[in-house]
Amino acid sequence: MMGRTHLAFGAVAGVHLAASIPALGLPIMAAALLGSILPDLDTPYSKLGRRFWPVSKLVFSIFGHRGGTHSLLFTGLVMAPVWAVSPPVALALGAGIITHLAADAISFGQGPRFGWRGAGVPLLWPLTEAKTGLRLVKVNGPLENLVILPWMALFAVQSGWDLI
Ligand SMILES: [Zn+2]
Repeated sequence: MMGRTHLAFGAVAGVHLAASIPALGLPIMAAALLGSILPDLDTPYSKLGRRFWPVSKLVFSIFGHRGGTHSLLFTGLVMAPVWAVSPPVALALGAGIITHLAADAISFGQGPRFGWRGAGVPLLWPLTEAKTGLRLVKVNGPLENLVILPWMALFAVQSGWDLI
């Protein structure tokens, strides 16, 4: 899915996790939002990839889009060093990444920007590059932009409002 939709999913996760530890609300929210777009550091066309294009071009050349950065191993490797500093923030970061993997698992795209066909994410990479997922939502299509994105954005705002 598109970065804006991933951020909406990350906001939903972040709001709910931040509510459990209000004293760490801001770092938890920031970690969930970062995690929600971090896997797409593997493409120079993504929100994060455009900002850090030398890194994203390198990662893309090695793994391709929706490769190793869309796996459970990547999630654990990113969480581990943060866990040493703050387990709640690490959990928020991991939750954000998981929302990304789940959203990509039900979406599909085509063309050179994607560098892949079909749907899914390689959850068990590097054990297998087989992708887990369903072709339910076209990336940047009407279902994503007119239903899922506004739904998740409203859900995040309503959840945040309820917690205030
Ligand atoms: Zn992705």
